[in-house]
Amino acid sequence: MKKVAILGSTGSIGTNALWVISKFQQHFEVVGLTADKNVDLLEKQVRQFNPKIVCLADEEKTGILAERLKGYPGEVVGGQAGLIKVACQADVDLVICAIVGSAGLIPLLEAIKAKKQIGLANKEALVMAGRIVMELARQNGVKILPLDSEHNAIFQCLEGKAPGTVKKIILTGSGGPFRQRMDLETITLEETLKHPTWQMGKKITVDSATLMNKGLEVIEAHYLFDIPVSDITVVIHPQSIIHSMVEFVDGSILAQMSVTDMRIPIAYALSYPERLAGVLSGLNLTQIGMLSFQEPDLDKFPCLSYSYEAVTKGGTGPAVLNAANEIAVQQFLNKEIKFTDIPKIIKKVMGTHKIIESPTLDEILMADTWAREKARNIIKN
Ligand code: NAD
Ligand code: MG
Repeated sequence: MKKVAILGSTGSIGTNALWVISKFQQHFEVVGLTADKNVDLLEKQVRQFNPKIVCLADEEKTGILAERLKGYPGEVVGGQAGLIKVACQADVDLVICAIVGSAGLIPLLEAIKAKKQIGLANKEALVMAGRIVMELARQNGVKILPLDSEHNAIFQCLEGKAPGTVKKIILTGSGGPFRQRMDLETITLEETLKHPTWQMGKKITVDSATLMNKGLEVIEAHYLFDIPVSDITVVIHPQSIIHSMVEFVDGSILAQMSVTDMRIPIAYALSYPERLAGVLSGLNLTQIGMLSFQEPDLDKFPCLSYSYEAVTKGGTGPAVLNAANEIAVQQFLNKEIKFTDIPKIIKKVMGTHKIIESPTLDEILMADTWAREKARNIIKN
């Protein structure tokens, strides 16, 4: 029985992880669950999965949950301290990190220090502090199992391969809803939230449309697999059937394929190194018929270039890129800016940042705060 805590259990990844756990109840016990504000769904999940501890990051809502769960034997906690308490529970074996954005970084670092195995969906944490996260994981003997479908695919392709045999990583991406759109100026929020192949939370859905998601994934892959950025190529693959590939020095390319559904990579991270039988059905290749590939259009989607630039410069660069993007995406979701303003804001913030090389965690957090403030002020002025 693997004991699991899920940080961000009410989100798209969180609910998919709970779907897998409920289908394979004989293998998993849910020990802890957390959310930001969604009291109703978290209460429902608590009643279904009976965790020992549950947390709402929004402390104003913690009291409401505690009131509703009166008589429930488990503990109800709140705030960042509560998230950390859930992540570090003594009997937890695996922590699924599925909080969106920078809020997931500190709980992830604490879970690693507590020597928990990690199932990582929260790519922003790795983008901000990839070197620190991976170094801490190495020091504590912690394995980080990627949930992101591309990284889960690469992880599977790399398993058991001799060191020094990888030539490059080929990250695939659907290209998002605007791959064939000519006029990006008129894009609406509603159109952006309709992703052609994946069902996800709002922030990553916007990131997929700007190709920032692919950019964040390049940085994520660089840190997770310790591969030079120059050896990571992005290929647009609109069918989202091949989730990524690894090219080896002899010219062989391995690819991982499955239906376009996050429950496949989530199940693999949950059951690793085993595989759960019958998570979902396999692919009907003759029905799919054709797989196609093309180069990304970097002029149309500059966020991908900014990500390469940020990680190549290194230091606090990726944290600043990430923070500016989080603010710009929030402003777009609030209908305060246009779709095409997102890359403009990121470029402006990156352009005024003085990179700190080999930053400490405090320096990263300071750069994150600085970039948020800078990004917010762009539309104010
Ligand atoms: P989501 O918005 O659906 O869910 C986010 C979860 O985080 C919710 O449970 C929410 O309550 C919690 N949360 C939000 N803000 C918080 C805060 N400040 N403090 C504590 N908790 C907070 O997002 P999602 O689509 O599930 O994505 C989660 C992460 O997984 C993101 O980093 C995303 O990039 C990554 N990811 C998602 C998918 C996907 O298919 N959805 C695929 C690959 C990677
Ligand atoms: Mg992905």
